[in-house]
Amino acid sequence: MNKKNTIYTSDTIVALATASGIGAIAVIRLSGVDAIEISDRIFKSYSKKPLINAPSHTVHLGTLEAKNQVIDECLATIFKGTKSYTGEPVVEFSCHGSNYIVEEVIKLCLANGARLAEAGEFTKRAFLNGKLALNQAEAVADLIASDSKASHQVALQQMRGGFTSEIEALRQELLNFASLIELELDFSEEDVEFADRSQFKTLLKTIKTTLSSLIQSFSVGNVLKNGIPVAIVGKPNAGKSTLLNALLNEERAIVSDIAGTTRDTIEETLHIGGIAFRFIDTAGIRDTQDQIEAIGVQKAKEKIEKASVILFLFDDKDNTVSEITTFVKENYREGAKYVLLHNKTDLSSEETTAFDDEILQSLKGYTDTLLRISAKEGQNITELKNFLADYAQTLSQTGKATVVTNIRHYEALSNALQAIEKVEEGMQMHLSGDLLAIDIRETLYHLGSITGEVSNEEVLGNIFSRFCIGK
Ligand code: GDP
Repeated sequence: MNKKNTIYTSDTIVALATASGIGAIAVIRLSGVDAIEISDRIFKSYSKKPLINAPSHTVHLGTLEAKNQVIDECLATIFKGTKSYTGEPVVEFSCHGSNYIVEEVIKLCLANGARLAEAGEFTKRAFLNGKLALNQAEAVADLIASDSKASHQVALQQMRGGFTSEIEALRQELLNFASLIELELDFSEEDVEFADRSQFKTLLKTIKTTLSSLIQSFSVGNVLKNGIPVAIVGKPNAGKSTLLNALLNEERAIVSDIAGTTRDTIEETLHIGGIAFRFIDTAGIRDTQDQIEAIGVQKAKEKIEKASVILFLFDDKDNTVSEITTFVKENYREGAKYVLLHNKTDLSSEETTAFDDEILQSLKGYTDTLLRISAKEGQNITELKNFLADYAQTLSQTGKATVVTNIRHYEALSNALQAIEKVEEGMQMHLSGDLLAIDIRETLYHLGSITGEVSNEEVLGNIFSRFCIGK
């Protein structure tokens, strides 16, 4: 489906736009060709003038009435023509926030020709009417769901356009080349080249660079949106659950001195410096005969795989230097930050750090971060939090550039990159225009699917059904 070719005529939909439940104000939104007419049937403005004669973008005080029975005194905000969020006439009633009033007003709208909106239908209309690109519409959902400074920042950036214009401009240029190459096919007998091959190569290079950097930004974008995954690992009884509790200041994980208590994984979110961290407590890593615990150990390894930060706990009674360094080296992952935590320092009488120095020495090139803590006594927990906040800060600085946070966009960008690489290969092999055109079309398709230039009902249904009703 190409939205530019779609003539979208709409019936009028109604839904509560604010959260349901008792509140100071409830906003009920009507959108569609008859929004103003329906409102004039149920709303009596104190100015005595019908809304149909009022200018757009004005607010009117009056009453909502069913068969001359006043339901509420409210404000009606009107948007006429296409100058609204949805790109069609909209009326928003700001009523008193009672469940009863909301129900009655919606029933009144339904009785007068509106129908109930489906989930995300207002935003879907905004997209179909060309008010928003598809990825911007998706950012609206992310903005509503954002619960940290970082996730809010990336959603806002996407909603305001993000990489839309960049992708659209490149797609447009590629489209021009596609047309020229396809035109050459009509003149194949005459052996002419309308499309300048060296310019085309430069364009392919630009597209590749842009796509690659957007694809790379996904890992940062994803952690900023969903929280930085932090795995807490170490031998059984190293103090992982105690540390998680100390970080969260509550008794969430079960602390016990029977090795292997934390059999499954526990996940808790904590906001530090405006960024969400997802702390994952794992079962102790060791060879085990216990079947259930073995599953836990496997899960711990999986969590390390997915973590951006790994907090590795040890103490100088239960661990040897070689045990610690072997573990870190065996479970090292490029791109993840290893933080060594020497725990239970409250039990050491001496202040010597020879043990720690030796570890750091043999882990040169793997990590240079070691903190001495006591999870039980809460010593240096603030320092650990500060370290994490600084680390997050460097990540979110990266996040100031355009980042991709949505898996659908990530997949489309990856597919587009693969297709553009095929075009490049085709150029090198001097493939004929008709074969090149196939891969160019495929690239155009994937690029267009991000912004919604090309889309289908199934994709749209999938995206908008995740919105709430009224959005
Ligand atoms: P896990 O198996 O790694 O989750 O370890 P737990 O958090 O269950 O702790 C195991 C035992 O070590 C418990 O008895 C804790 O009270 C104790 N423990 C944990 N951290 C410290 C610490 O910093 N100092 C001392 N003295 N004991 C600790």
